[in-house]
Amino acid sequence: MTSNLNQFVLNTIQNILNNHNFILPDNDDLQASVLLEIVTQFENSKSEKNKNRKKDQIKTIGYNKIKNLENLPDKICSICIDNFCIGEYKRTLKCNHTFHKKCIDRWFKKDHFDCPLCRENIIN
Ligand SMILES: [Zn+2]
Ligand SMILES: [Zn+2]
Repeated sequence: MTSNLNQFVLNTIQNILNNHNFILPDNDDLQASVLLEIVTQFENSKSEKNKNRKKDQIKTIGYNKIKNLENLPDKICSICIDNFCIGEYKRTLKCNHTFHKKCIDRWFKKDHFDCPLCRENIIN
């Protein structure tokens, strides 16, 4: 659905609800379910957009190659419980928790938008 269409559907629903003459017939489940379907689809498309926006923000989190182990805030990646090794890629979130890039990316792919360790929201 385009956003124009979303707006149109929203306006239509609002008009219907604002119209005091409109009474959903008690025995007409069809109309009620159609209205519910419209509202549900609108909500889904809104949350889908929100999810895509969050995914775009996650893509902007930087990552880098581990060059030495001295400066790492954590010695192990708490997702795979494995040591960090020189040459691996890591991502450090804004809460300062560090994970292997491949481990945290797998976490993000499951539509998580927080740190797996402290659950701090990692996007604005
Ligand atoms: Zn890991
Ligand atoms: Zn954290």
